Amino acid sequence: MKRVTSYLKSLLLLELLQGMGLTMRYLFKPKYTMRYPIEHIPKSNRFRGLHALRRYANGEERCIACKLCEAVCPALAITIDSAPRESDGQRRTTRYDIDLFKCIYCGFCEESCPVDSIVETSIHEYHFEQRSESVVTKTQLLAIGDRFEQQIAADRAQDAAYR
Ligand code: SF4
Ligand code: SF4
Repeated sequence: MKRVTSYLKSLLLLELLQGMGLTMRYLFKPKYTMRYPIEHIPKSNRFRGLHALRRYANGEERCIACKLCEAVCPALAITIDSAPRESDGQRRTTRYDIDLFKCIYCGFCEESCPVDSIVETSIHEYHFEQRSESVVTKTQLLAIGDRFEQQIAADRAQDAAYR
């Protein structure tokens, strides 16, 4: 009996028709897929993307070279050198490198920073053309911070109540 049912199913193309019915049902439903990069899914304000170093509103860099981020980084991706600043003797970084090939985007660096200096932005679309470009320097990190400060500040403000 089982063989007869199976034979009839094949003969009448029942399974094919069932499959086409399913396709037709989903054809007119809202789509789950996005046409990236034309369309983007909404991102959380806690998204951990490309890093940036922030400044205060007066242009002063926030980082005080405490090296907490370097110490906490589980991937040893951060390298910091520091020295007293010539003008006022305050300790500042002379080198702040992040190796993005080592980074695992865990967010520990930004969580550990006492002055909200190192942050991870919502930028996730970036690429390197040379291997050496994976190490982003202090100058580059500050430039990213300057460029996206508005977005970074808005994301932090939204999240402030939960910190
Ligand atoms: S996100 Fe994590 S792995 Fe990447 S630099 Fe920060 S602490 Fe290190
Ligand atoms: S970025 Fe923050 S945690 Fe890292 S050295 Fe500067 S002040 Fe310290």
